[in-house]
Amino acid sequence: MDTMQEMQEWVESLERRARTRLGNGRVADYIPALAQRRADQFGIALCTNNGDVYCAGEAQESFSIQSIAKALLLTLALRVHGDTLWTRVGRNPSGMPFNSLTQLEVEGGKPRNPFINAGAIAVTDRLVSAFATPSKHLRDVARRLSANPTIHIDERVQASEWRHRDRNAAMAYLMKAFGHLDNDVDAVLQAYFSCCALSMSCVDLARAFNFLAAGGYARPLGEQFIAPDLSRRINSLLFTCGMYDAAGDFAYRAGLPAKSGVGGGIIAIVPGCFSVCAWSPALDECGNSVAAQYVLELLADDMGHGAGALLTTAPASGVAPWWPRPPSSRASR
Ligand code: GLN
Repeated sequence: MDTMQEMQEWVESLERRARTRLGNGRVADYIPALAQRRADQFGIALCTNNGDVYCAGEAQESFSIQSIAKALLLTLALRVHGDTLWTRVGRNPSGMPFNSLTQLEVEGGKPRNPFINAGAIAVTDRLVSAFATPSKHLRDVARRLSANPTIHIDERVQASEWRHRDRNAAMAYLMKAFGHLDNDVDAVLQAYFSCCALSMSCVDLARAFNFLAAGGYARPLGEQFIAPDLSRRINSLLFTCGMYDAAGDFAYRAGLPAKSGVGGGIIAIVPGCFSVCAWSPALDECGNSVAAQYVLELLADDMGHGAGALLTTAPASGVAPWWPRPPSSRASR
């Protein structure tokens, strides 16, 4: 059996085992347009650093990426503004729900990190200053990184979130009052909701985020998308803050940089090896998909028990300089 076939069988076995968790959790309904998903949908896609994609379940089904957009928003804002971005947003875990107002008030309107709502709204404000239509810019970047020109913003989800914006609007006005937002609140919120309403599949997302597994190199663009040290730093933030107030729990369970969204998707990075996206709409109380977290935990566990060795066999063609070394430290865990 060749390595590609073994990889495919591994991903299929992950999908089979994760299905045992379907039905646990609740589909998000605070954005009514999201509530229409079935709780038992599930997909997984893995994109290796040489561009091969392995998938199982409903990996081609598009869903609302929601907070996964925050990782792309941050990447684009750091590309444009560099370290000055950190005057507007912090880099520490929040220990609070993703839509908490409490911390923002106490800490002078500076959000703890770019992956809670307030932080992503502050980051979006920096993009509103830089681009005429930040959401279209983000959509175009997502299209190019995924090599999928059909990726679009779901207007129905965007409109639904706009209608139910009270809490995010409260955060934005609070930041504006503290002088941490330069642009019109409505313009920033519209841009933020549009980015969250991007509709992408597990395959799209695994491809789009592969640059974080590949030291900043984006294979579909054929170029260094961000510098290697920035890629490392974004992964560190994903590790410490990407799963909201459950970031510590998820780090303990899977030990991977990851970003979740209330649409049920989670992207995770195995630096030097591959990016992976899992999706299932039913969420736990922190807003993270139950089955997607579980499959990533299984994946991490398997890699500690030999599956990672599959990745040490270089493909026949196009061997990239970042192709992984044997995960020997994991084998002895
Ligand atoms: N757009 C959603 C919101 O602002 C994103 C939240 C999430 O995915 N955790 O509430």
